[in-house]
Amino acid sequence: MTTTYDVINPATEQRVTTVDLFDEAATDAAIARSRRAFETWRQVAPGDRARLLRRFAEAVDADRERLAQLEVANSGHTIGNARWEAGNVRDVIAYYSATPERLIGQQIPVSGGIDVTFHEPLGVIGVIVPWNFPMPIASWGFAPALAAGNTVVMKPAELTPMTAMRLAELALDAGLPEDVFQVLPGKGSVVGQRFVDSPDVAKIVFTGSTDVGRQVLAGCAAQIKPVTLELGGKSANVVFADADIEQAAATAPSAVFDNAGQDCCARSRILVERTAYDEFMAAFETAVGRVVVADPADDKTEMGPLISAAHRDRVSSYVPDESLVAFRGTAPDGPGFWFPPTVLTPTDPRDRVLHEEIFGPVVAVVPFDDEAEAIRIANDSEFGLSGSIWTRDIGRAIRVSRGIESGNLSVNSHSSVRYWTPFGGFKASGLGRELGPDAPLAFTETKNVFFADN
Ligand code: NAP
Ligand code: MG
Repeated sequence: MTTTYDVINPATEQRVTTVDLFDEAATDAAIARSRRAFETWRQVAPGDRARLLRRFAEAVDADRERLAQLEVANSGHTIGNARWEAGNVRDVIAYYSATPERLIGQQIPVSGGIDVTFHEPLGVIGVIVPWNFPMPIASWGFAPALAAGNTVVMKPAELTPMTAMRLAELALDAGLPEDVFQVLPGKGSVVGQRFVDSPDVAKIVFTGSTDVGRQVLAGCAAQIKPVTLELGGKSANVVFADADIEQAAATAPSAVFDNAGQDCCARSRILVERTAYDEFMAAFETAVGRVVVADPADDKTEMGPLISAAHRDRVSSYVPDESLVAFRGTAPDGPGFWFPPTVLTPTDPRDRVLHEEIFGPVVAVVPFDDEAEAIRIANDSEFGLSGSIWTRDIGRAIRVSRGIESGNLSVNSHSSVRYWTPFGGFKASGLGRELGPDAPLAFTETKNVFFADN
């Protein structure tokens, strides 16, 4: 380990800790240990593997407050969100702890013998995690992978290694055998790239930007290595005039400004039917003005800072002057990478604020005239991850939810990610699905065996 990284608290700009980074040789050594651990982990009896995962979930549960505090310090997440995130990790591990005894194949009728399918684990799974939700996104990859009998090497984002490192300690405390679940802090271009290139890594689970995802996919193509990609989004929140406008406006801020907009599911485009536009905007302005942007460690805070100075520069570049700003919320002065909730009303449908993922607390509002136009604008994006539809007309809710090209939609709410339902994107938002009952199968190969009765 040759280099180190100073973790910075984004709310104070103070150094939190210094982390040793894995280099290429250390990464290869970890992959080799993982490969050896796989030979025994895959043989652990299903009931024992399940029990170890339940113990891991219990260890996370007991450590929730500490994990949450680490995330506040490392990532600037509000303490309320960070507690939910730690609880989500516990729930995801607990949910997939039921997998080992239920990884059931089929017995298919044939003549002359018996035909059976097996779901065989793949081997070493390389999980590459972004900085925006370090805890949940990690668990969505590692938990079903481990449950299906694989071992895991996981790279947190360089900016946010702390909770991932703690989760690796908790796994060991819970009794998972050494090297079954390893966390390798390091750079994407070193550790992440090594996961892609190493012939000993059987599959990549990548969550991050579409640009890097494209490189990962190309790298995996060289080895026909399977890959799951969870990438960017530019999701639409579509508000019809027949909806409960007050509720739609009151909930629209959290749908885009939660986690300071650093959410792949952020509803960063709001499409409002023209006849309700003025009513919506008046109520939305009130709601945006009420968003509490403050110290993330405070229980009352609803939005914290952005992750880094560089990211704040990037977000700021989408708001070069006040020309398109309809209204803004507030943000603290002083140290910290703060950016106020910002509402834009672009007039050019080609404006980049309507097409590029800003990944900050910036939302663009556009009017539409009818259902067909709403669907057309919602689909005018390379992305297709999430979205919301507000209407009291059930027929319209059915038509529009079927019409929008997106993996995760909600009607009259903004909920999107439940660990027991599938999650993933259409178009440039990704490849494959995570979570839900089928996720473990994405970490297996189906083997068909025919036993002759002669
Ligand atoms: P990113 O730059 O693509 O990085 C994601 C991860 O990939 C990081 O761990 C990064 O490491 C690593 N990486 C960088 N270069 C790599 C390479 N050549 N090979 C392998 N790994 C490499 O994305 P980000 O800026 O961290 O995260 C923001 C993006 O993630 C947004 O676009 C957002 O929409 C997307 N996201 C999507 C979902 C979803 O489920 N669809 C969820 C959350 C976020 P380093 O950080 O060390 O460079
Ligand atoms: Mg990056």
